[in-house]
Amino acid sequence: MSGRKELFEPIDAKNVRLYVCGPTVYDYAHIGNARPYVVFDILFRMLRRAYGDAHVTYARNITDIDDKIMARAVKEGKTTAEIADYYTGVYHHDLDRLNVLKPTIEPKATDHLPEMIAMMQVLIGKGHAYEAEGHVLFDVPSMKDYGKLSHRPMDEMIAGARVEVAPYKKNPQDFVMWKPSSDDQPGWDSPWGRGRPGWHLECSSMIEKHLGETIDIHAGGVDLVFPHHENEVAQSECAHGETFVKYWMHNGYLVFGGGKMSKSEGNIQTIDGLLKKFGYKGGEALRLMLLTAHYRQPLDFSDEIVIEQRRRLDRWYRVVMGTFASPKVPEEVIQSLEDDLNTPKAIAAMEKLADKAKRQKFASMGRVGVPHNRAAADLRAACNFLGLMEMSPDEWFKGREVVQKKPNSIHLSGSKATVIKDVPGEAEIQRMIDERYKARSEGDYETADRIRIELEEIGVILEDSPTATEWRRKD
Ligand code: AMP
Ligand code: ZN
Repeated sequence: MSGRKELFEPIDAKNVRLYVCGPTVYDYAHIGNARPYVVFDILFRMLRRAYGDAHVTYARNITDIDDKIMARAVKEGKTTAEIADYYTGVYHHDLDRLNVLKPTIEPKATDHLPEMIAMMQVLIGKGHAYEAEGHVLFDVPSMKDYGKLSHRPMDEMIAGARVEVAPYKKNPQDFVMWKPSSDDQPGWDSPWGRGRPGWHLECSSMIEKHLGETIDIHAGGVDLVFPHHENEVAQSECAHGETFVKYWMHNGYLVFGGGKMSKSEGNIQTIDGLLKKFGYKGGEALRLMLLTAHYRQPLDFSDEIVIEQRRRLDRWYRVVMGTFASPKVPEEVIQSLEDDLNTPKAIAAMEKLADKAKRQKFASMGRVGVPHNRAAADLRAACNFLGLMEMSPDEWFKGREVVQKKPNSIHLSGSKATVIKDVPGEAEIQRMIDERYKARSEGDYETADRIRIELEEIGVILEDSPTATEWRRKD
């Protein structure tokens, strides 16, 4: 809100509260949507480290009622609840693969209708809202400092709100908190008739219920500043008469092909699709990719940068082999993150550790009694803190079985909800290698060759040495 970096001081160090606007669950999420969930996951980890796990409450909601969900349901011949459940499952699966921690609370909009109705009643009572033709609208001019978050002049906000011309509005910039539902649309009974809530109201109500009237940090993508967050401020501050949020944080856009990645631009790459494309290493590679730029800066997406990060992880996993993580996360990494989540700087510090670890590894090669590789142990600790290196080096190089279950079995048109082709497990590969070894030792070279080709087809490369056959997976 101040437009500059500020020193973070919690309202109550025993109860630090963070809210991030969650997804509207009507379709597969794209990799741009993952950016806030990954960068603010780092924030969550930092807060827990600073104040203790038990003293941080992180709420990230699910918007499970929305016109886009309703439209999808009509198109698919399903209920809105079926669509929302299905895509909530996809979202959870996506974030799991990106090693994003579960928030403390994940409230769903549809579980908060009584709270939303109560908030509208308070706002009407205080003269900040009014009913008109089954709608409840927020009366924007009734709030003196409306616009203080986005700092836009009023005429620009009116244009920016892209308000539909509606005869029942007192002022063009007034926004909808409640709208009527027809009989075939989902709706809830209210003092203003059967209807459904607006998106901004959902977040204000869920925050009030789970985190209180004033919270420490509210975050989301920069596209939410106006109108979504501005309107959350209006509703919450006018209802409570208190400051709503102490610190705001907004991530910049993930850009692809010159513009913001978004459905309306038609330039999206779904998380689900990318995970399939990049295989079992994809989750960590995508996560690291999202951390390579500072969160407020734009981030240029391409397959190449994902591949680059996958290679970087190959290098890092190789140098930490045989080392346990240090008990402490290295200070340079923490200091970088403490400075407004400077992840590129943290990654640069980690690269230095990797170089140092590698030099030490070479220096001690062939010596008796390998000394402790402090740099490698530190790198491993830093990775773990950032939600990376959650596999063992062995799993990383040999593959981990990723069984992608369908969240549920409803069939949707054009849905890409296929099951990831399971990577054959290590046991299965070892069995094939043993079989090949046996065939070879019996002089059955035909079988041995066939097995080698089969292994190649599933991306397993064999390296025979006089004493053993080692194997690794191709990327
Ligand atoms: P939505 O489900 O559309 O409300 O978006 C979920 C989150 O993703 C919001 O915090 C958006 O601000 C954010 N977001 C959407 N597109 C992008 C993008 N291209 N880059 C970064 N963040 C984005
Ligand atoms: Zn929100």
